[in-house]
Amino acid sequence: MGKRYGAFALTVLVAVTATGCGGATPAAPARNAASGQAAPAALPSQSPSGGADAAPADAAAWSKWGLEPLAAAPAAPADKPIKLTKTGTVPVFSDVPTKDKVVFVTIDDGAEKDPKFVEMLTELKVPISMFLTRDIVKNDYGYFKPLQALGNHIQNHTVTHAIMSKSSPEKQHAEICDDQSALTQQYGTAPMLFRPPYGDGANTPTLNTSVQQCGPRAIVLWRESMQIHDMQYQAADKKLKPGDIILAHFRGPKDLKGETMTEMFAELLRRIHEQGFAVARLEDYVQPPA
Ligand SMILES: [Zn+2]
Repeated sequence: MGKRYGAFALTVLVAVTATGCGGATPAAPARNAASGQAAPAALPSQSPSGGADAAPADAAAWSKWGLEPLAAAPAAPADKPIKLTKTGTVPVFSDVPTKDKVVFVTIDDGAEKDPKFVEMLTELKVPISMFLTRDIVKNDYGYFKPLQALGNHIQNHTVTHAIMSKSSPEKQHAEICDDQSALTQQYGTAPMLFRPPYGDGANTPTLNTSVQQCGPRAIVLWRESMQIHDMQYQAADKKLKPGDIILAHFRGPKDLKGETMTEMFAELLRRIHEQGFAVARLEDYVQPPA
């Protein structure tokens, strides 16, 4: 318990998917990328509430969305399994070391801004983490504020969704730092986590250095990727594992063959429910820098 979650060699077997942000295989975390000057991340001021400590949604709310209630998540661990440091190389992780039967839902980019999804999350209180891309959300920053007010954290996902390994160090720096400042200004708290588009370049020293310089203190990948009706799994047995991080997107009918964001999310919750998992809040398992 409490050991540092540093650089982990994860075997990544995932097949390539055809859906944008999740289209690339997240590469295995690197060991000790180059060091660089680190800008300490601000402690998130967002409420840690939600998940286990939020009032559970009642059965009627789940029924309204055509769902069976998910198992309640256990209380957030007092001793966080992932501990972030103020300086130095940032860790890269795609799951959380825990025995709790929980998974974590992350939703990326921010293109679809469906009011029904806000209604759904308000009623169901399923915790999510949002990795937002400035140029995709800037036409309506306000959409994400009620989601944030539910206790959900906003994290960094670049300015233009650029492919990091094809970007110069200067461009990588600008993509991360400018998203960091825009999100901090809009949402009042500095993102603690960064996800590179497509998971690309996650293990390169250049990206690690840029992340350090811009403020986030970890690079977060994923294990499962939600498609329209089902998940794409990295494990050969196609089953969720405790601590898995799931990737989904703010996407609507145009990208989901006519399905809505709430239909996609309901399918995601069904896949989690049928495997007996609860959804916990990722940030409840991550210790910010002291
Ligand atoms: Zn993305």
